[in-house]
Amino acid sequence: MIYPITLYGNQVLRELCLDIVEGDIDVKTLSEDMFKTMHQADGIGLAAPQIGLSKRIFVVDGSLLEDEDMITFKKIFINPVILQESGDFWEFEEGCLSIPGIRGGVKRRSDIEISYFDENWTKKTETFSGMRARVIQHEYDHIEGKLFIDYLPSIKKKLIKSKLTEISKGNSEVNYKIKT
Ligand code: ZN
Repeated sequence: MIYPITLYGNQVLRELCLDIVEGDIDVKTLSEDMFKTMHQADGIGLAAPQIGLSKRIFVVDGSLLEDEDMITFKKIFINPVILQESGDFWEFEEGCLSIPGIRGGVKRRSDIEISYFDENWTKKTETFSGMRARVIQHEYDHIEGKLFIDYLPSIKKKLIKSKLTEISKGNSEVNYKIKT
């Protein structure tokens, strides 16, 4: 099933998501649907609030990026906890399927340590760096009710304000299904 993608302005994107209780929902079907939804929108990451679900799960798939390290980066993160962030801050221009047409430079630390459950409910603790870490940090922010635009300097926030208002009204030209 392909879900409509929740747009900026929808309250679910600002909620602190709740842990998933094992057995409560079918995480395999849910993650498959999240991958489908993300792929048809040409995304590289998608978090549950973006399909209107206030749950701690996100998926990533870097195969769209022409980057050797990212092409093989496909994962499901359930109830993730970032244990540590380290390394230097580096800036990269980010975008988000929930905020179409807007991009902005975000500084994030280069390395993370994260624990999570995979789709078989096996607990894992792993470290990621560079672009892999960045994609995880962006998606992790989603389940904490945070968006990449929160990091932008106030002058840039002012510049995008009217665009954000239009997005929240559903006035976005995208080739995927959206929900205000
Ligand atoms: Zn996003």
